[in-house]
Amino acid sequence: MPSPFDVINPPKEKLQRLLCGEVIPQGWIRDQMKQDLKGFIGHLDQLVPNLIKQDDIYGKNRLTKKVKTKRLGNVRQGHDIDAQYLWWNSETQSNWRDGFIRHAILLDDQSALRRTAAYIRRILRLQDADGYLGIYDTDLRYRFSDENGELWSKATLLRGLLAWYEYSRDERVLQSIISAVKNVMHHYPVNASDPFQSKNLKSGGLTHGLMFTDVLDRLHQITGDRKYLDYGLFLYRSFSSHEFEEDARLSNILDPEYKLKGHGVHTYEHLRSLTLVYYATGNPELKKALQIFVSRIEKEITPAGGPVGDEWILERTANATHTGYEYCSLQEMLDSWAVLMQKTGESAWGDSIENLFFNAAQGARHPQGHAIAYCKTDNSLAMTGTLNGARQTKKKQLRFKYSPTHQDVAVCCVPNAGRIAPYFVNAMWRKDESGLVATLLGPCELNTRLHGTSVRIVEETGYPFSNRFTFHISLGRSIEFTLRVRKPSWVKRLLVSESYREENGYLLIRKKWKKQNSVKLEFFAEPQVKFTGENECYITSGALVYALPVKSRNVVSKKYPIAGYADIFYTPVLKTDYSLDVQRVNISGVSKLKTKNPFSANQLHVTLYNRRKKKFEQVTLIPIGGTLLRRVTFIAEQNTRHPLISKEFPQRAKRKKL
Ligand SMILES: [Zn+2]
Repeated sequence: MPSPFDVINPPKEKLQRLLCGEVIPQGWIRDQMKQDLKGFIGHLDQLVPNLIKQDDIYGKNRLTKKVKTKRLGNVRQGHDIDAQYLWWNSETQSNWRDGFIRHAILLDDQSALRRTAAYIRRILRLQDADGYLGIYDTDLRYRFSDENGELWSKATLLRGLLAWYEYSRDERVLQSIISAVKNVMHHYPVNASDPFQSKNLKSGGLTHGLMFTDVLDRLHQITGDRKYLDYGLFLYRSFSSHEFEEDARLSNILDPEYKLKGHGVHTYEHLRSLTLVYYATGNPELKKALQIFVSRIEKEITPAGGPVGDEWILERTANATHTGYEYCSLQEMLDSWAVLMQKTGESAWGDSIENLFFNAAQGARHPQGHAIAYCKTDNSLAMTGTLNGARQTKKKQLRFKYSPTHQDVAVCCVPNAGRIAPYFVNAMWRKDESGLVATLLGPCELNTRLHGTSVRIVEETGYPFSNRFTFHISLGRSIEFTLRVRKPSWVKRLLVSESYREENGYLLIRKKWKKQNSVKLEFFAEPQVKFTGENECYITSGALVYALPVKSRNVVSKKYPIAGYADIFYTPVLKTDYSLDVQRVNISGVSKLKTKNPFSANQLHVTLYNRRKKKFEQVTLIPIGGTLLRRVTFIAEQNTRHPLISKEFPQRAKRKKL
């Protein structure tokens, strides 16, 4: 009987991932990462010491049968806590560490590097002689009939260790990771055990554990050992064989009536596992499943690139006002798009990643302070805990506000907000046999080796606030290779200082390069009015989504012992109601102000219809990342064709192949 899990003809991955540290940020991305390392990323262990410093969950506080309760990511202490949550601090700690480690490496911050080296030494000391590295004592480990965090606590921990190995090339770290994985493979033998068995079908930690495939994927890329792919396939098969409420189970994907309903963050991270198993097998059933799953997820993407997840999808599709996105989902979606792009080489994923990172992810950060929104909407009309200021229900909603911890809900989003920029930066460059590929655009520097010599490329640009680039290329010796640069789908016209050809959404420059070279590139974009499909429209220019800021007043709801950190609510001062008359669209272009913050420096002047005053007014829009409260979409007064109007979402502008 043929099975969808049969290995048929595994496709070759089109692009190779670079090591952590080979691509480093420059310009505004570097400034923002520095601010975060000095801010909520550098201080999270002091802001929530009980979850991080005081719970040595991988060491002396490993969980045993005797532990019945624990201080966790939220502040419901004193209540009976379901055993399923007891892994929670491992996620908080390890996701935070992963972001911290990558910030330290990418910014070459000596003090953060020292802190990281000490942390790594400590983790290596905690590993048992048999390779076990995890959160359970001997009486519990690998013996579960229910919810547990065995694989999830390792996935989050080992992602950070992998980053450190890639940077330090310390063989002891790689051997520690390999032996931790070997220990899992010994206790959950491939095709002879069932790691996902559970009496309780609502097992969030257990199904997060499928992300152990992140570690397997990277170990396969580093070692070339096929057994890691086979083990990933086995994990997905075990996961799919149970009746969990998970969108990524194979039978749910292949059910034509099925609509996405799960916990958003699971749905979007599991896309990476499904991608891995298709690339492990080349099985056409899994290819079909991957295509179906991707097309379902694309319906969950708002204009600014945020995937529905506040926190459950609940069979809804994306809406700029009514569906929020969780910061965790932003990170997991970005990483999944990046893995798809790395394996397929398809240029259009770059548009999805840039849209998410430059718009939704920037727009869910506090533009000045050390805080992020747990949940955010494109049209953000109030940040008082509930979705756009809706009345509180019995189950108090506190996710729609700004906080450096969000401890009253869960400390999951802040650690993930510390991961997103390093993951974006790593995905900016890839390699293939013919040379180097600038997959995502922005200010950065690449230091790698190609054809036996050193390559340094400094990408000088203010992108996405400017669409001009200079690539300064320095080589150890003159070599021939192809420089490939992704051409975003919104580009109308371009100028390149070298002769090039265009292929599958990339610009290719092949030549024998001198030791010192520079390539100049400019993209020309016109502001565009785009429809959401619900008779609403919004305005983009290049890679940026623009928003009308809504004036607000703030209320500090909680202060922290460290100055400059607070939980803050925002209420609108003045309610406005604008629509956009597509017959009279008038965008008079972008003007640049001289301020340090690029998000408030770029202004777009647009004529909108004030529905209260019943007259046209010129208003100023800024990139969504510069706003707190805002309106992104406007009711379209007349649904007619206009040369500036595109009917497509940016992320669906091009059909993606797999
Ligand atoms: Zn979260």
